[in-house]
Amino acid sequence: MDCIFCKIIKGEIPSTKVYEDEKILAFKDINPMAPVHVLVIPKEHIPSCDGITAQNSAVVAHIFENIPEIAKKCGCTNGYRVITNCGDDAKQSVKHLHFHILGGKSLPENMG
Ligand code: AMP
Ligand code: ZN
Repeated sequence: MDCIFCKIIKGEIPSTKVYEDEKILAFKDINPMAPVHVLVIPKEHIPSCDGITAQNSAVVAHIFENIPEIAKKCGCTNGYRVITNCGDDAKQSVKHLHFHILGGKSLPENMG
């Protein structure tokens, strides 16, 4: 499968990892939109939020259990935003479920 995030998980594409365990990986976004911009992904290929089911949702819970520590470790000491884009209207560009952690500054109020 031609998925760049699966290739990052396999080490075929380099990334700056900030957290990894057996189920998930977090790494710096290549095109940061804020001083802290990290992506958190499941190692299992799930295409988007639309692919979350009762069978695989435990990994999503695991991601959210780890987000506070990842965010703080990366420098979000005064809050952060978690975003996932799903589908064309949201401009999802990589079809592997990922959660953006944005922070390190006072973020704009407008979400679109
Ligand atoms: P989205 O638009 O929500 O699908 O977000 C995809 C994100 O992946 C964008 O913010 C990209 O900058 C980021 N991205 C794409 N390729 C890479 C890569 N090789 N390493 C790190 N981040 C990437
Ligand atoms: Zn993938």
